[in-house]
Amino acid sequence: MFNGIFHIREPKNEPILRYEPGSAERAALKTELTRMLENPVEVPSVINGREIRTGDLVELNPPHNLRQTLGNYHRAGAREAEMAITAANQAKIAWSEMDWSARATVMLKAAELLAGKYRHTLNAATMLNMSKTCHQAEIDSACELIDFWRFNPYFMTQVYDQQPISTQDVLNYMEHRPLEGFVFAVSPFNFTSIAGNLPTAPALMGNAVVWKPASSAVLPAYYIMKILKEAGLPDGVINLVLGPGPVIGPPVLNHVDLGGVHFTGSTYVFSTIWLTIGSDIRKYQSYPRIVGETGGKDFIFVHESADIKAVTANLVRGAFEYQGQKCSAASRAYIPDSLWPRLKEQLLDEIATIKVGDVCDFRNFMNAVIDKAAFKTISEYIDFARHDPHMEILCGGTYDQKEGYFIQPTVVQSADPRSKLMSEEIFGPVLTVYVYPHAEFEQAMDLCNTTSPYALTGSIFAQDRFAIVKATKALRNAAGNFYINDKPTGAVVGQQPFGGSRASGTNDKAGTWLNLERWVSPRSIKETYLPPANYRYPFMAEP
Ligand code: NAD
Repeated sequence: MFNGIFHIREPKNEPILRYEPGSAERAALKTELTRMLENPVEVPSVINGREIRTGDLVELNPPHNLRQTLGNYHRAGAREAEMAITAANQAKIAWSEMDWSARATVMLKAAELLAGKYRHTLNAATMLNMSKTCHQAEIDSACELIDFWRFNPYFMTQVYDQQPISTQDVLNYMEHRPLEGFVFAVSPFNFTSIAGNLPTAPALMGNAVVWKPASSAVLPAYYIMKILKEAGLPDGVINLVLGPGPVIGPPVLNHVDLGGVHFTGSTYVFSTIWLTIGSDIRKYQSYPRIVGETGGKDFIFVHESADIKAVTANLVRGAFEYQGQKCSAASRAYIPDSLWPRLKEQLLDEIATIKVGDVCDFRNFMNAVIDKAAFKTISEYIDFARHDPHMEILCGGTYDQKEGYFIQPTVVQSADPRSKLMSEEIFGPVLTVYVYPHAEFEQAMDLCNTTSPYALTGSIFAQDRFAIVKATKALRNAAGNFYINDKPTGAVVGQQPFGGSRASGTNDKAGTWLNLERWVSPRSIKETYLPPANYRYPFMAEP
């Protein structure tokens, strides 16, 4: 038993490496990319520490180069899901009884392993499997995941530090127990950091986890399991199951021992999960905790006092980095007519310089979209815009899947502020602009607030302080992450706690104590030093 009051120092964010020509990190990453392309792997599920190979192989092709192969993964099914639940339930007993400081150490060690010898491996796997530039991989699979693993143990101590008042004759305290049952972590394709955080945040708090990553992002998931194992995570605490959501989801979600769901992905899938759980809520031992961060239709709102150059740069980065496949990507913009002619010219000039292609060519700013289904959905939105009389495609609008799933950065101007492209999540490199009469700033903000069901991220660009104050107030519920003169993407752990409400999720702010608190069930304990020896109260005495 560990005796001592243990402090975890407040972490600092992991510095971002720059990968400039001639740098050591650039050379090392290029070597790792080549190694991975020359050495295809077979990716198994990992259940109770054992690699499970089902023989049902699915090939892994980089989305930007469909002729290359990264190997295969072994597709799992309901049987493996059941095995993972059994493993989690068994591992939970010893793990949840372990000192919290020992659990913290596993995550802190994983952070150091990722910051060091695994950095280029996880970055290269993310670049090749998910089609990210080296910069997008670095800020995701290296820096953000390292930050999650360093900050969460620190925030865990803040959760445990929440204690009630005691009196002279009574000791009160609160024990932050892990949830009863297991936690189901379901991660999206677009961020390795989110994939790593969804299972490890509940595990840190003493839970055991069944983790199902997106089928289009299994390679980084496998390396995350290797890092955690090397960091000392006991077998069975996190069980990786690689398989389709509609196959793995139902047996896990309907299991009587389901204690919680930690989900990030689309609003539709999250609603399906919630409906599945709600359809027979009486069967569970406890009400499952449901945490989900979902879709967005994120905006950049421009006031006529804004700096045009800053707006242009942030529209380009916000809308087109990682091909617009960030939940926070700028997907709609509101621009005053007084700025639009100059802004449009600068924006189109800048976009004309963007190169789209293979991740291994570092001159490319954009790569491919994730898969055939995403390519089809996004190109259908573009075709819709092409045929709608209220919309005009100002640039891009072309797509090609001969080599990989490439879609050119596209800007659409919509005369209708409530059109399909101004309200629905597209999740691709398509920015839709509505030009409003500059005298109607407030009415335009009302449109922004009420057009889309989502409320994840948004920005105001203005120099005029009155405009900033008005926008901050008018758009209060339109975004869980609101930016002033900055793009709506790029939240940093510990700096801009991330998450939104309305159709964007439960807003439990990943990477903060707010999220960690969802994975515990507090027990209040009262100890009385000298209990009464007589049931009678003084008021009952005879006068
Ligand atoms: P998705 O909803 O298609 O898939 C997410 C995960 O759910 C995958 O692992 C998938 O296999 C699984 N799944 C699918 N059907 C399931 C079922 N019936 N039961 C259980 N699991 C099931 O999302 P995606 O395409 O991987 O990711 C893109 C979406 O994620 C976008 O909508 C984006 O906005 C959102 N996202 C949100 C945030 C955020 O923090 N708000 C962050 C990243 C991504």
